[in-house]
Parts: sequence; C-alpha cells; structure tokens
Amino acid sequence: MSKNISRKQFLIKTGSALALSSFGFPNIIIPKRKEKLGVALVGLGRYSTGRLAPGLKLTEHCELRGIVTGSPEKIPVWQEEHGIPDNNVYNYETMHEVANNDDIDIIYVVTPPGLHAEHSIIGAEAGKHVWCEKPMAMDEEECRAIIDAANKNRVQLTVGYRMQHEPNTQTIIKYGREETYGAITGLETGAGYSGAHRDPDDWRRNPDLGGGALYDMGVYPINAARYATGMEPVAVRGKLWSEREEMYSDVDEFTDFEMEFANGLIAKGETSFGKSSNYLNVDAENGWYRLEPMQSYSGVQGETSDGTELPPDPDHQQARQMDNDALAIKENKEPIVPGEDGLADIRIVKAIMESSRRGEEWIQL
Ligand code: NAD
Repeated sequence: MSKNISRKQFLIKTGSALALSSFGFPNIIIPKRKEKLGVALVGLGRYSTGRLAPGLKLTEHCELRGIVTGSPEKIPVWQEEHGIPDNNVYNYETMHEVANNDDIDIIYVVTPPGLHAEHSIIGAEAGKHVWCEKPMAMDEEECRAIIDAANKNRVQLTVGYRMQHEPNTQTIIKYGREETYGAITGLETGAGYSGAHRDPDDWRRNPDLGGGALYDMGVYPINAARYATGMEPVAVRGKLWSEREEMYSDVDEFTDFEMEFANGLIAKGETSFGKSSNYLNVDAENGWYRLEPMQSYSGVQGETSDGTELPPDPDHQQARQMDNDALAIKENKEPIVPGEDGLADIRIVKAIMESSRRGEEWIQL
C-alpha cells in the first residue's frame, strides 16, 4: 500500500465499508445519496410545457415526478409523456395533499404571478422546497409571506431567474464584483418583445394576475442592473404607458425607468410588449462589456472592449438552473437566487409604478 494512502482511505477506495465497521472504525462511510429529487410542476402552461418539462429530462439532480393542474384534459397527455403515476397528479384544491407524498421534494410554481404567493405558501406548508417563477409575487407583502412560509417550514426557496445561472451572465457579474474594467460608470439594459396578447382572458393583460410588461419582462432589466452592479438602488423613477389601448388598457405595454445607486450611478432600463429589446451594456472606467441577447433561452452572448468574446453556452438553460437549485437543496447550501432577490425586484417594480403615477418623480427606496 502506498505510504500516501492510509488504511482507512484504502478501505474506502476498495469499497470495503463493511470491512471498515468490522475493523471497528467508529464512523461507517455511507455513500452520498445520488438519487434525483422529485419536482412537481404547478401550472402546465407554455413555460412548463416548452422549457421546464423538457429541461427536467436533462437534469442530473432532479426529475419531473408530479403535476398540479386545473385542466383535466392535460393529465393523460402529461402522464404518458413523463410517466407520472396517478398518485402524483393534483389539482389546485388537492395540492396541499402533496404533504403526504414522499416522491415529491420540490414544488415549482409556474402559474400567473398573481397566484405565486398562494401556491408557493401551500407548497412550503406541505413541507416541500419551493421554486417560484418570476416575477416572485404582486407586492412586497406577498413576497415576504412566501419567504416567511419557507423559513417557518425549513424548506428552500428560490426564484426562477434563469439568467443568474447562465455562464456569460455569471462572467459579467464577476466583472462587476472584481471591477475587471474598473468601477461601473454607466449601465443600460432592456428586455421586451414585439408581441400581442389578443385573448382578453390572457393573464398578461390582467393587472390582478401580474400582467403588464413591467412585471412580466421588466424584472429582467431590473434584476440585471442589480446583479451587474452588485448594488441596490437608492431611488427609482419611471413611466408606464400603452399605445395599443385595445389590448393594454389595464396594464402597461411599455415602461422606461431609471435606477439611481448610492455612488451616483444611474442605470437606464426599458421593457415592452410592443418593441423588441434584449441587451445589457455596461460602461466602466477602463472599458466596456455587453451581452446581447442578454435574456434569451439560448444564445446569450457578449463581448468586451478588449476583444474578449463571450460565446453562447450550448447547454439547456433551465436544466442548468434546476440542477443548480436541486444541488443547493441536496447540499443544504444557499441557492443562487434566494427569495430576497425576488422581493428586491418587486419593491422596485412597485416604486416605478408609483413614480409613473406621480409624473415620473424619483421615489426613494
Ligand atoms: P401560461 O398562461 O402559458 O400558463 C399559465 C398556467 O397557469 C396555465 O396552465 C393556466 O391554466 C394556469 N392557471 C392556473 N390558474 C390560473 C388562473 N386563475 N388564470 C390563468 N391561468 C391559470 O403562462 P406562462 O407563460 O407559462 O407563465 C407562467 C409563469 O411562468 C409566469 O409567472 C411567468 O412569468 C413565468 N415565465 C417565466 C419564464 C422564464 O423565462 N423564467 C418564461 C415564461 C414564463
């Protein structure tokens, strides 16, 4: 036996856990559980169907094991596609019963934002870890209630901000932290799409369910300004408006906003349902860097003033996000995007709304 390997290590290497105990070692080495955590998706709409369920076929640390849906016609389709047993199928009235189901470790809330608090709290009260989609909830009070429920029930809570798991985004977060190009002197960011929500029942048109560009897309540039600078704004102002009043009479179709930081930096942001934008431009003392697109499901890429290329990451973004979040649960570590991060953005969203009502006045945070 090599001098560098102790007898205990040798026994571990040769897999002789039993031998270890028979030799009288006090601590038996138990192999780390490798099994995947079970996820139940709550709300089987476009995002669950198009991105999360396919992502959960690629994940190493978690897999799709349950569904919560109010649409009975979706049940057989999902059961067949994902091999979900009858016992793991719930509707919104029965979802609290997931408390008795050991197959399910995580509730992933993918319903309209106006329902996130209700569904996340049911999940936490059932003793399940909670992944909550963005925007976290309607206001600070709801976000706080979700955080409190998770703390009280000792479950992890994370918000589905996928960008913070994306490698190029992580690189520019590092540039900000380490001041690779010097201190940040300017920041402009936008996320929006030129689209239409023609169905009058679409929740994206409904202010009570979290509709409007600012809640839906505006949280991307808000979150980006915060993660890129690593700072919290001290004041914000903004303007919400609609041009296609026939569709967006009750919510904003466009929002422009500014975020002021304690060091005097003013970040500019925009979001829209009527104009495409997808960028994060950062100016610093000794150069610049940018991501464009900055929040697409794939192809996020960038460049810097010294010619560094940030090429697109080929991996499935949501699979990476869910694996990171599952690993944080398995290893009992702080998740990359804790609930407080979602709350901070909602605080800013509400202040921008208030500013718009007050003629674009600065609102102190
Ligand atoms: P969607 O309208 O396609 O799906 C919403 C689902 O919620 C549907 O299955 C619907 O039946 C269900 N639902 C339950 N109760 C409802 C009610 N009272 N009213 C309306 N629908 C109800 O929406 P989506 O695009 O899948 O968005 C769902 C959530 O996912 C939102 O929070 C959204 O912001 C988020 N999302 C996140 C990303 C991302 O990149 N992280 C992308 C898209 C959507």
